[in-house]
Amino acid sequence: MTGKAICLFCGSRAGESEGYRALAESVGRAIGERGATMVYGGGALGLMGIASNAAIDAGGTVTGIIPNFLRSLEVENPRLTRAIVTDNMFDRKQAMLDLSDGFLILPGGLGTFDELFEVLTWRQLGQIDKPIVLLSDSGYWEPYVALIEHVIREGFAGSGVRSLYTVVGTIEDAFAALGLDETAA
Ligand code: AMP
Repeated sequence: MTGKAICLFCGSRAGESEGYRALAESVGRAIGERGATMVYGGGALGLMGIASNAAIDAGGTVTGIIPNFLRSLEVENPRLTRAIVTDNMFDRKQAMLDLSDGFLILPGGLGTFDELFEVLTWRQLGQIDKPIVLLSDSGYWEPYVALIEHVIREGFAGSGVRSLYTVVGTIEDAFAALGLDETAA
């Protein structure tokens, strides 16, 4: 068991392939079974809904952090263990940062990218020192990693940015990178 809180960023859509749903379901269940707290955006749709419901079904604690204006727009998950309603997106991000020991990023869209870049740049500036782990078992993050490599090659970032994040293909490797593996738990 672990008392750690993991912030999950992922799509408010489920994606085209069934594999994305399966991954979100497995991640949610594993977080619940591991006794970790899942912190996320509080929505009931897409991968966000699938992962949060799987964590709750596995007996996990799920904290949803959602700005007031998004509660109906994004459909707040009514099953949350704890709902934190913020005034705006900035307060939501700050609360996610404060309440989490690490960040796990599953496939998602522009909102997920925004959140990922936010924590990456916070880490780049030394505002946080918490693990940032990108998980996909189907190569979803390959173009993202290629973009970062392009930025390094073109001289707009140092090679040190590679150490800001870890890309993994299995949940076990993700948990190890987040310090949630059995030996650390
Ligand atoms: P998406 O990956 O676009 O499906 O969005 C996933 C989550 O990111 C949703 O809960 C959004 O509320 C959230 N999000 C965070 N920042 C933003 C942003 N700047 N624009 C859109 N969505 C955002």
